[in-house]
Amino acid sequence: MGIVPNPNESISRMKIICIGRNYVDHIAELNNEKPSEPVVFIKPDSAVLPKEQDFYIPEFSQDVHYEVEVLVKIKKVGKHIDEQFAHKYYDEIGLGLDFTARDLQTQLKEKGLPWEKAKGFDGAAVVGKWLPKTNFEDLNNLDFQLKKNDEVVQKGNTAHMMWKIDELISYVSRYFMLKKGDIIFTGTPAGVGKVNANDYLVGTLNDKELFSLKIK
Ligand code: ZN
Repeated sequence: MGIVPNPNESISRMKIICIGRNYVDHIAELNNEKPSEPVVFIKPDSAVLPKEQDFYIPEFSQDVHYEVEVLVKIKKVGKHIDEQFAHKYYDEIGLGLDFTARDLQTQLKEKGLPWEKAKGFDGAAVVGKWLPKTNFEDLNNLDFQLKKNDEVVQKGNTAHMMWKIDELISYVSRYFMLKKGDIIFTGTPAGVGKVNANDYLVGTLNDKELFSLKIK
């Protein structure tokens, strides 16, 4: 058992750019220092959990954490994007999960090694439904939350991001050419925690349910 590959997905080419430590309260929770620049890492396209599939806790971790995050889908190629033009590079906003094998990540961090195995494994990126950004009055005031087994475990608002969406697009495009279909995970607020088999997770953005999944 485990994640079943979708043969059609082999032709998709996109990358997931994730921002770490973008909410002050989450930094305090993990005892991280407040950085002077965003923390950036990449998940491969194979990390996307296929739609309608359950998430299987990988055998190499005893401590997989959920991290609910607001997502931005890039709609055209760009590099060195000026912050004032960043809004032209996306039309859709979503919600997802940055699953993290926290035990493995801690080991890798201690050794000064890259996090990819802890963050980029198969199924580690849940991408929910997309909504047109025109649905929202102010992207810097979006409420979002994650429920685990009907209990709210994470609650955030994009007003509390240290780096806003347009700043993030400008920043990451200095290093990585952004392409149509790329997704930016904008960081998680406080409340990250462990998933267990049979948990049921539901993510909502401004009270609209954008994803739900079962943990196996
Ligand atoms: Zn994250």
